[in-house]
Amino acid sequence: MNIILLGPPGAGKGTQAQRLQNDLGLVQLSTGDMLRAAVASGSALGQKAKGIMEAGKLVPDELMVGLIESRIGQPDAAKGFILDGFPRTEAQAAALDAMLAKSGKKLDKVIEMDVDEAALTERVVGRFTCAKCGTGYHNKFKRPKVDGICDVCGSKEFTRRKDDNADTMKTRMAAYRAQTEPLLPYYRAEGILKKVDGMAAMDEVYRQIRAVLAGA
Ligand code: AMP
Repeated sequence: MNIILLGPPGAGKGTQAQRLQNDLGLVQLSTGDMLRAAVASGSALGQKAKGIMEAGKLVPDELMVGLIESRIGQPDAAKGFILDGFPRTEAQAAALDAMLAKSGKKLDKVIEMDVDEAALTERVVGRFTCAKCGTGYHNKFKRPKVDGICDVCGSKEFTRRKDDNADTMKTRMAAYRAQTEPLLPYYRAEGILKKVDGMAAMDEVYRQIRAVLAGA
């Protein structure tokens, strides 16, 4: 099964994708995570993407399409994938359709995570991640069980994304509205778009996603 989680920054795409990956054996393909790894490694792609990401703008389509095409072609993606953060523009969506058609694959569902924009900045500004295993947390909504210690791996090191601040959020939201939101009618017309309530509690959002996928 191949699915896309679509929604603005802070909608909960990464959290839900991690859980789907664990439970369904699909692979989470987060272009944001791939780009952050490229920035950390200092690769050519990372050097190009760093400033753009810090400004909250979108990395050029040709770089993103190349990145996702090589990743989707790897063996672990053959049994199914969850796209988290891609596509973000109409050109990326068209390129995705073309690359899937070429390899005899298709999209099963596109899940729209419907959220209240006013809540997103609070969600994004409070989030942090275990530096060792990548588990996501939030100052207010999901603290570790013991303060300062990761529930999953026991690490005491956490990181916060540079672009998770109120100022950059404005640019990221503007990019979402102008460039990514138009994908909703695109997938609706294909008959594969399903909406879940992204403002519900995390477990309830997950339940709704599983219900959508069960009907896939
Ligand atoms: P995310 O972790 O999905 O919020 O992505 C973080 C940042 O990476 C975005 O604000 C963009 O600068 C960049 N990025 C991630 N995915 C894409 C994409 N599909 N197209 C363009 N830029 C992207």
